[in-house]
Amino acid sequence: MTILETRTGQIAPTAGPVIDLEQERQEILKRYRRLLRSAKPMLKDNDAKLIKKAFNTSAEAHKEMRRRSGEPYIYHPLAVAQIAIDEIGLGPTSLVAALLHDVVEDTDTTIEDIDRAFGPKVARIIDGLTKISGIFEYGTSQQAENFRKMLLTLSDDVRVILIKLADRLHNMRTLESMPRDKQLKIAAETIYIYAPLAHRLGLYAIKSELEDLYLKHVEPEAFKDIARKLRETRLSRDRFIGKFIEPIDKDLRETGISFVVKGRPKSIYSIWTKLNKSKKPFEEIYDLFAVRIILDVPPDQEKAACWRAYSIVTDHYKPNPDRLKDWISTPRTNGYESLHTTVMSKLGQWVEVQIRTERMNEIAEKGYAAHWKYKGNDTKTGEGIEAWISQVRDMIESAGSGDKKGAIEFVDDFRSNLYSEEVFVFTPKGDLKVLQRGATALDFAFDIHTQIGAKCMAAKVNNTLVPLSHVLQNGDQVEVITSNRQKPNEDWLRFVVTSKAKTKIKDLIKEDNKRFVTDGRDLVQKKLKTLRLEMTNETINQLRAYFGSKTTDDFFYRVGKGHIDVAELKKFKAEKDAKENRANKLNTDGVTDAKAVVKELKKIHGERTDADMLLIGEDMDRVDYTLSKCCNPISGDDVFGFVTINDGIKIHRVTCPNAVELMSNHGNRILKAKWTSQKESAFLCGLRITGTDRMGLVNDVTRVISNELSINMRSVTIDSTDGIFEGNIRLYVQDTSHLETLVRKLERVPGVFDVIRFD
Ligand code: MN
Repeated sequence: MTILETRTGQIAPTAGPVIDLEQERQEILKRYRRLLRSAKPMLKDNDAKLIKKAFNTSAEAHKEMRRRSGEPYIYHPLAVAQIAIDEIGLGPTSLVAALLHDVVEDTDTTIEDIDRAFGPKVARIIDGLTKISGIFEYGTSQQAENFRKMLLTLSDDVRVILIKLADRLHNMRTLESMPRDKQLKIAAETIYIYAPLAHRLGLYAIKSELEDLYLKHVEPEAFKDIARKLRETRLSRDRFIGKFIEPIDKDLRETGISFVVKGRPKSIYSIWTKLNKSKKPFEEIYDLFAVRIILDVPPDQEKAACWRAYSIVTDHYKPNPDRLKDWISTPRTNGYESLHTTVMSKLGQWVEVQIRTERMNEIAEKGYAAHWKYKGNDTKTGEGIEAWISQVRDMIESAGSGDKKGAIEFVDDFRSNLYSEEVFVFTPKGDLKVLQRGATALDFAFDIHTQIGAKCMAAKVNNTLVPLSHVLQNGDQVEVITSNRQKPNEDWLRFVVTSKAKTKIKDLIKEDNKRFVTDGRDLVQKKLKTLRLEMTNETINQLRAYFGSKTTDDFFYRVGKGHIDVAELKKFKAEKDAKENRANKLNTDGVTDAKAVVKELKKIHGERTDADMLLIGEDMDRVDYTLSKCCNPISGDDVFGFVTINDGIKIHRVTCPNAVELMSNHGNRILKAKWTSQKESAFLCGLRITGTDRMGLVNDVTRVISNELSINMRSVTIDSTDGIFEGNIRLYVQDTSHLETLVRKLERVPGVFDVIRFD
């Protein structure tokens, strides 16, 4: 006796309509009988008895439970079992497991109970299904590993995954009654893993439905919009398809092969993806449908018949040679077979034509289960399914190794076919944004709004502060942090990937640059006046060359931006004058950079051996030299010595701003110099650290400096405005490599954007 046979009467829930229990009981039985009818062709021995027992067990266990919609809970296991049979093609064992799939998780029934009543096979599947729920959360490496574990160790039997897919499909079909946050979470998981999984297993119909349901709940407006437009354009599309297939239909008839030709609209989700990718309006998307020719031929004639149909199609329409896909000679790994071509219609639109047989079509829709049915394996014995299951298992096993990285790659791999170009992320409110893979926090900001992008200073990803260049991962929740002081700069172009962000940044910079060029020109003009130089084209051009700019605009821009200090124009004038005075003393037209300085040193001294050089570091007390204040050289820097009149020898870096002047005017007082072995001596140097301010950043920075490298700081000044952090730190380092190590470590501190040395 079960509850279904004994419970009668009516109950009135606290809210909602009165429920007619008798009517409900009838409905449950109706659904159960429908399930039995579907399963009947594959039942053997005492399968029917087992199914009945499973149904009764499940109904009894869930008797007090209702779904969120108010319906009796048993509707759900019944529906999952129906999907497993009808849409995946699974057999009696799976049907039993599907009926019982939520029993252990949601009720007092234990795995041991199931084992005793239904045997170890069913118990193992239920055990796997029970363990899956709750284990999978998208996002992190641990979860990727969990997911893979679920697929590998928990699912000794791939039926676990297939029933899980059926379960997910039914939950997606009934998502309406869930609260919004649950809807989003379930939908995100679905698009992130279940749809790709269905794809990988060759379950195209389920894959498309999952995707469409995802869109329907996450982007309801877009979904409705596309669905409506598809409806509205249906007549004209049908007319177009009718016209298109007319000549093909006629010729195919003459071959005597029986066939059907259909114009199939693509899924709403795939149209949505296309709209997003192409940025074109719906009206301009032409490949909204594919023409499918399905041939009914015996197995040994399949290939020839398909190519014959191909030949007929291309007799009438010119094919695009790049779009021919022959998955008949080489089926896809998930079992998909079909011949695809894209041809030019008489109206000048490309039309995709898929040619396949009935058998291939069923595989395409239902995947391997259908495949094995056609392979001649008798599904009644269950052997076909078993063979298929072991094949799927092999596929999962070979897909990744046991380590964590392997697990992530494995999960990625599932999605790679379908979603390689996209990353799914969420706004703080849970709205989904689809961006190009590799997109950064800054891309996200620009995707929201140009002004948000322009003012974007940092972002929080899953509540952790990250720099603008942070690459987003699927499932990330991104919050943009803006500042009115922020401005787009060229550096941003190095890491954004979306064309939207790139274009906007370039535009904004161009806008900004114009102002700097004007400002720079004004500054130069004023300065030249005080130097009593005329602002002629020649002077400007000399200045441009002197400061190593490619164009005069670029020169002005650098001045306007403050990269070139107008005070340096004085040096330019001094050199210009000196050059004119000095005539041919130095056989050079101006020394402009460090390399040229080194060359100049050689010219002055000839090629000497190292022994002749001033060695700095060892004979600190024997040789009278000091390190110049203007460029603060440290051990390892490229340096030269300069003999001063009163101060002994001064050591300068070859990149010192004064090097050019010293070299040009006092060549005879220059000494070649080199550092000797790296001694434990300390050199003072300055580092400017910029980044995003956050709690504890100062502490992290100073900890790196003092703890990790035992460096002494002499002074620290930290300035923080609007969340932008700027620290000027003067510290003692041993040499350049020591300094480099420190800089690298500092750059790794979260929130730090840039570390530069200053003099
Ligand atoms: Mn369920």
